Amino acid sequence: MSRVLVIGCGGVASVAIHKCCQVSEVFTELCIASRTVSKCEKLAAELQPKTATKITTAQVDADDVQQVIDLINSYKPDLVMNIALPYQDLTIMDACLACGVNYMDTANYEPENTDDPEWRKIYEKRCKEAGFSAYFDYSWQWAYRKKFEDAGLIALLGCGFDPGVTQAYCAYAKKHEFDAIDTIDILDCNGGDHGYKFATNFNPEVNLREVSAPGSYWEDGHWVEIPPMTIKREYDFDQVGTKDMYLLHHEEIESIAVNIPEAKRIRFFMTFGQSYLDHMRCLEDVGMLGTTPILFEGQEIVPIKFLKALLPDPASLGPRTKGKTNIGCIFTGKKDGQDKTYYIYNVCDHQACYREVGSQAISYTTGVPAMCGALMLLTGKWNTVGVHTVEEFDPDPFLDALDQYGLPRSESHDPVLVD
Ligand code: NDP
Repeated sequence: MSRVLVIGCGGVASVAIHKCCQVSEVFTELCIASRTVSKCEKLAAELQPKTATKITTAQVDADDVQQVIDLINSYKPDLVMNIALPYQDLTIMDACLACGVNYMDTANYEPENTDDPEWRKIYEKRCKEAGFSAYFDYSWQWAYRKKFEDAGLIALLGCGFDPGVTQAYCAYAKKHEFDAIDTIDILDCNGGDHGYKFATNFNPEVNLREVSAPGSYWEDGHWVEIPPMTIKREYDFDQVGTKDMYLLHHEEIESIAVNIPEAKRIRFFMTFGQSYLDHMRCLEDVGMLGTTPILFEGQEIVPIKFLKALLPDPASLGPRTKGKTNIGCIFTGKKDGQDKTYYIYNVCDHQACYREVGSQAISYTTGVPAMCGALMLLTGKWNTVGVHTVEEFDPDPFLDALDQYGLPRSESHDPVLVD
């Protein structure tokens, strides 16, 4: 029996809410709150006849801490699921602390305005000290550790697929397969085709910022940064086939490096088609990925926001996308003094997701782990207070829940390694 407040009602939140409504015995009451309340009302109207979960809706601007506090105080949830955007992470964490409620999200904090001089000062210092230049990093949310511990509350960070399930795979490998892990390669393959020449599978702003940034990986205790898309490999993915993949910076590398300190190298690869890369490079070259407002015919316009308005809504890709995703981790290391390799991954079919919840697999593979993470917190299976990433918790009940609710694991003890 629990009351959950979900903030955000986009592609990922919609899947998470669908899945919560399939587990009504735990998610007994749900409030869907977002900036555009009509989206919440539409989803609630669609789901209410099919579920025993009691659904209500609310309007909230989560950039405003007081609005979130007022909403939490009036709804009195046991957990707040932040499935809005990374820009809202800190305001929602502040509101949860003020009201004494547990918190979770699916992506680590990054500012909406990367030109903000105060943020920029801290960012530039971090770039120098840490050695990677992505706009997002864990430092902002890790700074809340003591506050959450003192309040006896839990903040679960980044509980989607990657970040999220990929870290549970790391914790599982460490617990069951290895005495020591030497290398970790996270491989994210989307073999889906939506038929558009260019579209992003989740929020375009967040997606394009991530992909156009320099790549980086963890090696021998420090970051190695490279120009964007300069390390390319080919890999033959189970049930998808051979794809080109590129090394990217990705947020979970930062926390895995802390929590699995013996890992000598941690890399992240994502597959991209040539058409996606050509379009992205061109848009970047002409300034369309910019986040600084420009004056156009007397009106201020943020180029990447304008681009977002032109691109297909990721939530609309569901009916068109065919093919599968394959996301997982390849490990090398030692067990009982012997060298060992291990690959754990999930394969997800875009059309099967669409039939089940009306979304493509990228939203599905993020929304299902968000629901399963909430399930771990609400049932007390994950109960260590403080601010934590997924690999810090017991992976077994979480992976069992993923097996049960739509993202079953596959394994190989003899995988092809990435050179
Ligand atoms: P969408 O853009 O589809 O949805 C975002 C939702 O948040 C919208 O409903 C939007 O409202 C709402 N929102 C935005 N700003 C505010 C605000 N100030 N106050 C209240 N609500 C707001 O994004 P996605 O569903 O694609 O992504 C959701 C999250 O999931 C993101 O943080 C993304 O980074 C993360 N993600 C994580 C992955 C993982 O594997 N861990 C993979 C993919 C995504 P409105 O309708 O008004 O715009």
